Amino acid sequence: MAADDRATDRARTGPGGRDRGPDGDALRTVERPTLSVRNLQTAFFTDKETIRAVDGIGFDVREGETVGIVGESGSGKSVTARSIMGLVDSPGHVLEGSIEFRGRATLRRLADRFSGRTADVAGVEEADRAGAADDDDFVFVEEWDDGEPAAGYVEITRAPEKARRRLRGGGIAMIFQDPLTSLNPVYTVGNQIKEALRLHQGLKGSAATDEAVNLLEAVSIPDAHRRVTEYPHQFSGGMRQRAVIAMALACEPDLLICDEPTTALDVTIQAQILELLGDIQEERGLSIVFITHDMGVIAEIADRVNVMYAGEIVETAAAPELFGDPKHPYTRGLLESIPGRHPDDDRLRTIEGDVPTPNAPPTDCRFAPRCPEAFAECETVHPVSVAVNDDAGDHTAACLLYPEDRSREESVETHRARDASYAGGDGGGESGSGRDAAGETGPTEAGTETSEGGEPARRGGGQP
Ligand code: SF4
Repeated sequence: MAADDRATDRARTGPGGRDRGPDGDALRTVERPTLSVRNLQTAFFTDKETIRAVDGIGFDVREGETVGIVGESGSGKSVTARSIMGLVDSPGHVLEGSIEFRGRATLRRLADRFSGRTADVAGVEEADRAGAADDDDFVFVEEWDDGEPAAGYVEITRAPEKARRRLRGGGIAMIFQDPLTSLNPVYTVGNQIKEALRLHQGLKGSAATDEAVNLLEAVSIPDAHRRVTEYPHQFSGGMRQRAVIAMALACEPDLLICDEPTTALDVTIQAQILELLGDIQEERGLSIVFITHDMGVIAEIADRVNVMYAGEIVETAAAPELFGDPKHPYTRGLLESIPGRHPDDDRLRTIEGDVPTPNAPPTDCRFAPRCPEAFAECETVHPVSVAVNDDAGDHTAACLLYPEDRSREESVETHRARDASYAGGDGGGESGSGRDAAGETGPTEAGTETSEGGEPARRGGGQP
């Protein structure tokens, strides 16, 4: 099945494979997103340069939804995932932005454990929350039920390391490309799953063993009773990745971040893992962030897609729309590069050139040197994320060609004015863009540079 056909087929069944209404709307009530990322900026500081690996991106992930992040190596996909997980190692720092996580069990657990850093914002408008909370609060409770938090969020960028450790493998679990980085070679697979069950569900002894077997069966590992006693080296690559997924499920996460989980696997096993993730998502209502460089894989699994380039989200849309009517020249280039797309060609099509290292605040389009549609203003105006046309809904692109229903001059002016307003802080607060954060003052504590009202400025990329 072609990539765009696969995306359309997924759209028909909706997030997690659930049926949709005749207009394609999910039948279930859509609540606040499980994860909201706004104006995330993560940079690496070396003696020679500052690398702005993630430069002002934003996106949402709703319950039961799979959001894909796609782009070439060096586009900032994995740094995005590590920023959400609180796993950015020095010399990297999350400089600015907001990462709200709304897993209910996590909210309750952290509000209980960090009651001194929990703010009661029930009935307080979002714009007034900064006044209702202390500077070091990171748990925000919006609704209470019998003295227990019933709704609210954890602001990950403000959370202390102790809280982030509880988040990792608890409310949020992550699967990496190489399962051996997650599995300890000197312990049996069963013992590693049981350790996760002990930590997160309090299970011990035979109850933990039985649940470990259940989890191995849930990820379709045959002969689970025997396999639970084996070591990682006795598993094939595909089985190891299944075992890692079982470990992640042991933590009962609300959000699963998958960073190139199928890249090291052959295509048959890759298809099995994708199907497994889809089944698990449908059963458990998991939200998934799926990171890959492979457009074919994204078409297979994602409900919504963010295309990243040089630290920015350059296009975002529902998967069928992105594959059926791609707008940004970079997205088009990625799709044209899918093997088999042009069977009559002698050679595979590629995007000439490499992803640049984003080490300075953008004053132009970072894709311009590789763009077949570049024109003079692309060298002097930084494109921001705009609706691709008046009827676009939430299909956005960061390209001076859009909105496509305006004249070229009007479109360019739209971008010029919006970029200037982000840089100057209009509508975004005093801190303005991350240009100050990464370009002049060096690393600061994440989340401390927010605008009035506690909402950080959004400079570009992704959902408004
Ligand atoms: S802004 Fe210009 S260079 Fe950048 S993608 Fe659009 S047309 Fe190409």
